[in-house]
Amino acid sequence: MSLLAETQSIVKQFEFTDDDVNKSVREFLRQMDEGLEKDGTSLSQIPTYVTGVPTGQEKGLYMAVDLGGTNFRVCSVKLNGDTTFNITSDKVAVPKELMVAEKAEDLFAFLALQIKKFLEKHHGDHFEAHIRRRMTVSSPDGYRDEHAFRMGFTFSFPVQQVGINKGTLIRWTKGFDIPDAVGKDVCALLQTEIDKLHLPVKVAALVNDTVGTLMAHSYGAPGSHGAVLGAIFGTGTNGAYLEKLSNLKKPLVGEYDSSTGNMVINIEWGSFDNQLNVLPNTPWDVALDKETPNPGIQMYEKRVSGMFLGELLRLVINDLMKNPKVSLFRDENSSTNDRRSTTDIAETSGIWRPWGIDTSILSHAAGDHTPKLSVLRDTLQETLQISAPAYEDAQAFKAIAEAIGRRAARLAAVAIGAVVLKSGRLSDPCHANDPVDVGVDGSLVENYPYFEDMIYEALRVIDGIGEEGAKRIRIGLAQDGSGVGAALIALVAAGMEKNAPP
Ligand code: BGC
Ligand code: MG
Repeated sequence: MSLLAETQSIVKQFEFTDDDVNKSVREFLRQMDEGLEKDGTSLSQIPTYVTGVPTGQEKGLYMAVDLGGTNFRVCSVKLNGDTTFNITSDKVAVPKELMVAEKAEDLFAFLALQIKKFLEKHHGDHFEAHIRRRMTVSSPDGYRDEHAFRMGFTFSFPVQQVGINKGTLIRWTKGFDIPDAVGKDVCALLQTEIDKLHLPVKVAALVNDTVGTLMAHSYGAPGSHGAVLGAIFGTGTNGAYLEKLSNLKKPLVGEYDSSTGNMVINIEWGSFDNQLNVLPNTPWDVALDKETPNPGIQMYEKRVSGMFLGELLRLVINDLMKNPKVSLFRDENSSTNDRRSTTDIAETSGIWRPWGIDTSILSHAAGDHTPKLSVLRDTLQETLQISAPAYEDAQAFKAIAEAIGRRAARLAAVAIGAVVLKSGRLSDPCHANDPVDVGVDGSLVENYPYFEDMIYEALRVIDGIGEEGAKRIRIGLAQDGSGVGAALIALVAAGMEKNAPP
């Protein structure tokens, strides 16, 4: 069989048909309902205790921090009350060893230290005043007074929330693995470390990045009746939406304002269909799952998000290089069977190492339209140390990368489509013809060419959406959900403190 035929057969295995899309949407809706009824389901459907989306008129100075997949970001956000805001922020990479630290304290102490550095650098005055104040009040908690910064803590992992600033870690995702933290209140873990450094900061709200994205998109897109969904397609993937309190059948333990009749729900859709009722499952999906610290979990995320697509591609390419019928990246005149010595690839190339291929290479592959794929071939040479890759080989690489990317986008449409249908907005006569806003963020939607186009293509074939419905769905990049979104929730939370009985 030729390389072309082998490639086509692999590409076929990554096809996700219109029927598959529709079947998956129905299953997604079923699992959403199941998650609203009880705990321990595939979709966690976590109540966030946030009961409304903003109007754009919110005002004030708040802090926000964001622990996502790769970086830790500290910001202060000035909400101007007219849908605009100003943000100051600093970002550091989370050291790999802290992602798998022995003790939770190791990671959280590092985070608190970054907050301290940020305050010293950008808010020296505020900081000084508080240090002085703290020295003049007798209560050891004096610095946690009403003048302390209220901070939204964006913590992008599954957390069982029991209040707006309280929640225990259910499980780590995206390569983090600190068993000591599981089951602990992550806000308390951070506040403890902040207090050790005597910082004038109160962790006022616990925010999933998708919830922040939903809030930020509603703040920044006034007149659209609020976004129906905030979604992340980055290192990991997930979504949050507004649900009617009456549909939420599981008991709520914390306090909340029930006057809006709604609550934001963190779907945790990375774990959609862990049981694989509808998700595709190629041999490479199986192999990838085995390499992760959480096999059998986050099965949707492992087919959709940035952390995994590069590895999926690497596994496929490795298999194809082993295939004796083709000679991908291989010196055809060599007679030995040792793969490494017969390829044109350096020993140190990421192609030989689990997680050695960055997902960005999929974007490069999809974005190269030069006649001889010269851009992709240069990239293969530079980033994967493949010497002088042939045009045919680059073609095969591109076709496979695109098949993986396309399947991811169509799966993304399943989640988006299901939530849009669940919102009822498309068939609501009060909103007839209004756009249905979806706020998105993350490296895939930002950088992968045509990701959004491929999502729309799949949305159009979904029963109940169709051509007309898809036209009304307005997918837009959310403006900094983890910064402004978290600040907005800190504001809501600060309001709740004031209203709380003394
Ligand atoms: C986490 C979610 C998060 C998503 C996007 C997933 O791995 O479980 O909580 O929202 O990544 O960052
Ligand atoms: Mg993030």
